[in-house]
Amino acid sequence: MSPKAQQAAISVISGANRYGDEYAETLRTLVAQYHNVKEDYILFSAGSSDAIRLTIAAHATADTQFVVPELTYGDGEDFAKAYNLKIAKIKSNPQDWSIDLKGMQEAVAKYQGPSIVYLVNPNNPTSTVINSNEIESWINSKPKDTLFILDEAYAEYVNNPNYRSVDHLIAKGADNVVLLKTFSKIHAMAGMRVGYAVAAPDKIKHLQDYLEFDALAISSPSIKAATASMQDKDFLAYSKKSNDSAREIYLNTLQELDIEYLPSETNFVFHKIKGNIEEFRQRMLEENIKVGRPFPPANDWCRVSVGTTDEMIYVSNKLREFRQKGWI
Ligand code: PLP
Repeated sequence: MSPKAQQAAISVISGANRYGDEYAETLRTLVAQYHNVKEDYILFSAGSSDAIRLTIAAHATADTQFVVPELTYGDGEDFAKAYNLKIAKIKSNPQDWSIDLKGMQEAVAKYQGPSIVYLVNPNNPTSTVINSNEIESWINSKPKDTLFILDEAYAEYVNNPNYRSVDHLIAKGADNVVLLKTFSKIHAMAGMRVGYAVAAPDKIKHLQDYLEFDALAISSPSIKAATASMQDKDFLAYSKKSNDSAREIYLNTLQELDIEYLPSETNFVFHKIKGNIEEFRQRMLEENIKVGRPFPPANDWCRVSVGTTDEMIYVSNKLREFRQKGWI
C-alpha cells in the first residue's frame, strides 16, 4: 500500500468518532475523472465484492438468469444463488480455458426472461483477457432485458495493447452495463475494503437503493487512503512494475521447467501441474507457500499469486526442487 495512503488513513483516525462521508466527494471526483465520466456515474462499496452483491440484488427477479463462465471469480455465482437466480454456467474451452462468449450469447438469446451476464476481464483464475471488440459488440447489440456486469478488478495490470475497459461505453451512454472496480489489487489496499461501480446515473440511483448512502459504506480512513492512492502516480507505477518483474521470474521458471501456463495479464499466473491440485497445494503449504484453491474442472492447474521478487525466487526454487523429486 502506498506510504502516502497509509499516512492519509492514519491522519483521520482521531476524527473517526464522526461519519466520514464528507471525504468521499474528493474521491468520487478522482474516480470519475479516471473513467472520464461525471460524479453521478460512481457508487462506492465496501470492496467490489459488495458491489457484485448489490448489483445482482438490484436486478434479481423471480425469472432472472445469471449467465457466467464455468471458470471465473466465484462471488457472482454465489450471490446469484443467494438471490435465487437461475444459473447458466457456460463451459470453458479445456484447451486454453478461454471463455466461450458465443455460448454465453446463445444462453442469453434462447432464454425467455431477463439475464445478468457476469464477465471478469482480465479473468480470474485464468489471468487472460477476453477480446474487447467481442465484448463491446455484444454490449452494443443491446440484447433484450440483459444487464452486463463487467468486473475489471485487474485491468491496471494488463499489457495487451488490444485490451480496453468498457468505461468508454458507459461514458458514451450505455445503460446496460455496470463496471466494477476495486482498490484491492493495483492499489494494494485489500484490507481497507474500497470498491465502486461505474454506470449510467439512473442505474447508479437504482443501485443506491440497495445500500446505505454509498459514502458511508466505506470508512473514513479507507476513503482518505484511496484518495491519496489515486493521486500517488509513482506508487501505482511501482505497483505495476514490481508485479511485471516478479511475475517474469516465475514465468521464466515455468518455461525453464517446460510447464504449460496461460499468458498472464494479472497479478497471478495459471499453470499446469502434475497430478492433483490438492496434493500440490499441500506440498506447497509445507514450504510455507499458499497457492490458489482448486478451480474445477481445471483440477490439474494451479493459480499462483505474484508476490515480491524475493518471494517469487523462493517459490521458483521450490518448484525446481519439486521437479527433482518428480512432483511437477
Ligand atoms: N472481483 C474479482 C475478479 C476478484 O478477483 C476479487 C478478489 O479477488 C474481487 C472482485 C473482490 O475484491 P474486493 O476486495 O474489492 O472485494
